Parts: sequence; C-alpha cells; structure tokens
Amino acid sequence: MNSTQDASCLLSRLQTMNETVSQQLDVCHRAKNSCQLIAVSKQQPTDKVASLLEAGHQNFGENRVQEAMQKWPALKAYYPSVRLHLIGALQSNKVAEAVHLFDMIHSIDRPKIATLLAEQMKIQGRHIPCFIQVNLGEEPQKSGILPYELAGLIDHCRGCDLPVVGLMAIPPEEKNPAPYFALLEKLARHYDLPEKSMGMSDDYLTAIRMGATYVRVGTALFGPRETSRTLI
Ligand SMILES: *Cc1c(COP(=O)(O)O)cnc(C)c1O
Repeated sequence: MNSTQDASCLLSRLQTMNETVSQQLDVCHRAKNSCQLIAVSKQQPTDKVASLLEAGHQNFGENRVQEAMQKWPALKAYYPSVRLHLIGALQSNKVAEAVHLFDMIHSIDRPKIATLLAEQMKIQGRHIPCFIQVNLGEEPQKSGILPYELAGLIDHCRGCDLPVVGLMAIPPEEKNPAPYFALLEKLARHYDLPEKSMGMSDDYLTAIRMGATYVRVGTALFGPRETSRTLI
C-alpha cells in the first residue's frame, strides 16, 4: 500500500473512532465532547502524525520526553493549537524540557517530581494541568502511586500549588478493566478531581462508560508501533 492510501485509511479510522466515542457518550447519557481522544503517537512515523494534525486532530500523547523532543517542537511550530500529553514516567532530569514541551502531564507518581514540576512551571511561567497516576493493581513493575499513598501525594501537590486536575491509571493486563476504571472514577470523585485519564486501544469504550474524560489510544488508530531499532 502506498503512503497516500495509508493516510486515507488512517483518517477514516480517526473519523470512525471519533464517531464511536460520540455514540458511546450518547449511549451513556454523557455530554457531547466530555471525553477527549488522545492519539498516542509514540513510535509512530511522523508522516502519520502529520496527517492527523492536518485533519485537525488536536490531542496527542507521548510516553518519552526524549522521543517527543525529537519530533514535536517542529510540529508544534506548524500546528500551535495542538495539545501534547506526557503519558509516560517522568525523570527529574527531564522536568524542564517536559514543562517546555507538554500541555498536560498524566504521570505524576511521587512527591519529588511534583515539587520539581511546580517549580519549573513558575520559572517558565507555564500552567500545565497534571494527573496523578495510580497503580491500581499494585503491580511492582508498574509506575504510579499506590492507592493507600494517594491522599498524601494529593496533599503534597496541593501544598506546592501543582495544578492537579485528575487521576490516571493503566489497569493490570489480562483482567477485566471495568472494576479498575470504576475504582479510579470513585477515587477521583472522592478527591474532587474532575478528570479521569483511562482506557487504551482495547478498552476505551469501557473506560468511557465508566467515566473517562481522556482516553489514550495508540495502535487501534495508527496500527502497530515501529520497533525502537528503527527509531534511533
Ligand atoms: C502506549 C500507551 C498507550 C496506548 O496504548 P495502545 O494499546 O497502543 O492503545 C496508552 N497509555 C499509555 C500510558 C501508553 O504508554
């Protein structure tokens, strides 16, 4: 298949997915546009990303600051209304770059990173809404704060004026995600946080039913990711 055909397939997938999201919101008696589709563009070729930008799609997600620094400054210069979401773990030595480049950060998982982010936002004069990532399945290999430590981290963030707007989670694989989404929704409500970032390619419709305000979809939109080998 040539790249023009590729691009038109991608655009029709985007359109179908936008319609599916709208229908699901409708079915669940939720307001129109109350859930945003984040196109997860990590390890995807720039021409695919560019065709979504050209079609007017605005929300994109990246999981690594370094990879995002290589492709997004140029794209953002052409499409200034884009909103770039950091959905992967943030290291302290990347905080300044992250604050410069991203418009939302979904992966606050410890007090130190919250403090550093709040400081950098002041220095750079940027206001970046943040999500706290919760390790709902208490899986050792996964990042995110453990549920019993969440209250302390929220207090810490509020104490250092970090703009926390919601919670994010990735449920354990191979399990029914619905109860995890329900738990995240309940925690967000308990802490008075309006936004919920949950749901990926396989389960975003379930996540919308359980109250997601952001879904993060990669492969179901773009197709399989390139391996890291082809990406430098
Ligand atoms: C890669 C990634 C996604 C997208 O995953 P798909 O299964 O390709 O939709 C969503 N959220 C996070 C945090 C990711 O790292």
